[in-house]
Amino acid sequence: MKLSLVVPCYNEAGNVAAFQAAVIEAFRDCGYDYEIVFVNDGSRDATLHNLKKLHQAQECPVKVISFSRNFGKESGIYAGMEHASGEYICLIDADLQQQPGIVRDMVRLLDEKPEVDVVAAYQDRRGEGTVLSFFKKCFYGLINHLSDVSLHADASDFRTFRRSVRDSLLELGEYHRFSKGLFAWVGYETEYIPYVACKRHSGKSKWSFRKLLNYAIEGIVGFSTKPLRYSIYLGILTALAAVLYMVLVIVEKLAWGIDIPGYATVIVLILLLGSIQLFCIGIIGEYVGRTFEQSKDRPVYVAKEILTYEE
Ligand code: UDP
Ligand code: MG
Repeated sequence: MKLSLVVPCYNEAGNVAAFQAAVIEAFRDCGYDYEIVFVNDGSRDATLHNLKKLHQAQECPVKVISFSRNFGKESGIYAGMEHASGEYICLIDADLQQQPGIVRDMVRLLDEKPEVDVVAAYQDRRGEGTVLSFFKKCFYGLINHLSDVSLHADASDFRTFRRSVRDSLLELGEYHRFSKGLFAWVGYETEYIPYVACKRHSGKSKWSFRKLLNYAIEGIVGFSTKPLRYSIYLGILTALAAVLYMVLVIVEKLAWGIDIPGYATVIVLILLLGSIQLFCIGIIGEYVGRTFEQSKDRPVYVAKEILTYEE
């Protein structure tokens, strides 16, 4: 098997058949074997039903892994990679925003350049609003500053890579998975190619602003402990400010005998220090929580049903 397309699907009933058709069309007379590994991530619509139909028809080799509930895209990617038998593995969305034709170019690139291990597509022109792209820019600036890995700003999970990369990724058994960071962490030679994301074939995006924010926190906390260091700095800074202010108050009192009425100052300081403390406790909590989650050593996903084919 040359290529496995790993496709996480959450409520993509209207897309999976069209996706498979597009893949078959794009890979017609490509001259090598490929399979599609669909992962049904606990969809609430007819996705599983439609996937089973595709599996039954076997117009091209199709595997279906169906989760017991929604575990998130990252878990879907993990499960799909586990069940992929291709020499190359491609991560692609089910909504046809990423054209299967590009995958052929990626495969060609891997064939032509043995030194390249990962071909990652990045979005050339973003079709999203300025507010969202502004926040994304901030996020990548922040995470690249904070963490030990460096992320390409516009790179997506749309990648094709060699089996050795897949093996390395699967060895990372972390429960909180952040693919972009994991790819950066395992290293390997990565080539970036531009692509233009199309409109969704049907259905709507699962990302809300809140989800993106959580994703960002996930990325930062998962790949850096610098926020903990910074909260120490913040503590030292406020302590210094407090000492300076104390000296000032004492000197004023001794020199001029002014009795400062400072009610407002006190309230503001209490609020400020209180919020700084809560903020820092929150940061610590993120890390403690993660340690707790990881120590339970739970699997990344639970599969309810796995449909394969005779290889
Ligand atoms: N997805 C998933 N589980 C989730 C959310 C999304 O498997 O909990 C899949 C979804 O079906 C799609 C891919 O991840 O194939 C990307 O999702 P989406 O198109 O909503 O994201 P966007 O393209 O807007 O970034
Ligand atoms: Mg999409």
